[in-house]
Amino acid sequence: MALVTASLMAAEIEPPEPVHKGLYFDLDVIKQSGADLSLWSPDNEENPWEASGLLEGDIMIAKVDDLRNVIRDEDKYWPNGVVPYYIAKDHFSQEERSRIRSALKEINDSTCVVIREFQKGDEDFVKIKGNATGCWSYIGRKRGGQVVNLQAPACLRKGTVIHEFLHVLGFHHQHSSHDRDSFIDIHWENIRPGEKGYTL
Ligand SMILES: [Zn+2]
Repeated sequence: MALVTASLMAAEIEPPEPVHKGLYFDLDVIKQSGADLSLWSPDNEENPWEASGLLEGDIMIAKVDDLRNVIRDEDKYWPNGVVPYYIAKDHFSQEERSRIRSALKEINDSTCVVIREFQKGDEDFVKIKGNATGCWSYIGRKRGGQVVNLQAPACLRKGTVIHEFLHVLGFHHQHSSHDRDSFIDIHWENIRPGEKGYTL
């Protein structure tokens, strides 16, 4: 029994600190710059994705150059479709951790992508943290590790976890697609000032 426990625990290896941590890791700055989602509840009408104060709500862009490459840059693809991840221990309860895992399993079960636990030797990985405000991710793979932030409870809904991991895989938002006007009507008057779009 002890052996079984030891081998289960050995499967979870903590990666080094990610190189790409996001820009919002000083909690005092976060509270000033974005809404605090810690009090969010399912009846809250505010979309948690819009509350982080980032590009289109939840995309962590370190510099404007990122916008030029995005998914067409093969360096941002995950080799063989394998995405190693690690859930920060101190930021989530057991129940929250299993909710995250079950959302990731849904991606694995529905696609050819393999999102799996970090293993020794993985150079690129996602560290799932919850100590910043909001739900956010980079687009595609960043070299040397990257953070996805999922603030409880708002960001731990299954759809939100999957949403952020689709960004990890390299997807932009559907409404940013070049052919979006063929499929959706945009109510520009409902968009906050300064948020109508960005220029490359
Ligand atoms: Zn998003």
